[in-house]
Amino acid sequence: MASGQLSRDEALECSQCRHACHVMLYSNTASKLFGKIPIRHIVLMQMRFDGLLGFPGGFVDPSEETLEEGLTRELLEELGIAVPVSIEDHVESRFSTSPSASSSSNKLILHFYVKKMEEEQIREVEKAASSIASDHGLEVLGMVRVPLYTFESGGGLSCFLSHSFIGNARSQLIDSLLRLHLVSPKDIRRAIQSSQRMQEQTVQDLQVALELTEEQRKCL
Ligand code: AMP
Ligand code: MN
Repeated sequence: MASGQLSRDEALECSQCRHACHVMLYSNTASKLFGKIPIRHIVLMQMRFDGLLGFPGGFVDPSEETLEEGLTRELLEELGIAVPVSIEDHVESRFSTSPSASSSSNKLILHFYVKKMEEEQIREVEKAASSIASDHGLEVLGMVRVPLYTFESGGGLSCFLSHSFIGNARSQLIDSLLRLHLVSPKDIRRAIQSSQRMQEQTVQDLQVALELTEEQRKCL
């Protein structure tokens, strides 16, 4: 098992640990962008309250409910629909390495799930998430689909990967795209490399924006 990883059962033996469960919901689709570029798969993520991209889910207390019941409850709050998640959908459990999690005395274990759905069900989730979900506009600012294609110009998956993600959500996304064969290893590699170049551009853009803001502030 990779470092920091543990089995679901081992994770549950830690009574002092805190637990958080998140899930990647996805489906196949026949739709085409601009009528010609196959979308192939719909993969759902969300823009979180903290401005970071992540997967739906949240904290679960295993002394009160199973991990999967807790995750389903979190999904009801964030998506407006109680998408049932089962043990078979579990992918990995690992200790969080984020600085905020390690500053707490109780270690945080992150459980990750993947669930395949029908395209129609994904559409229902998207509708409910923006209308009846209690967390809409609060903990969740909106659901987003992940573009899986990368254009010659670099747009698409590479741009998406250059955004900021919560915890290890970016690697959970990349690992899942590879494991489920949603994107080929060659295309993932190309997207990551293009994304790295984009990050350098972002640093420069932010510097220009900062200088402009300073100029404008002086004029006020
Ligand atoms: P939430 O209630 O969804 O914010 O999640 C509970 C905890 O899990 C928070 O401390 C987050 O920092 C962390 N977390 C949320 N999503 C992820 C993710 N995809 N990968 C790693 N950590 C996450
Ligand atoms: Mn959450």
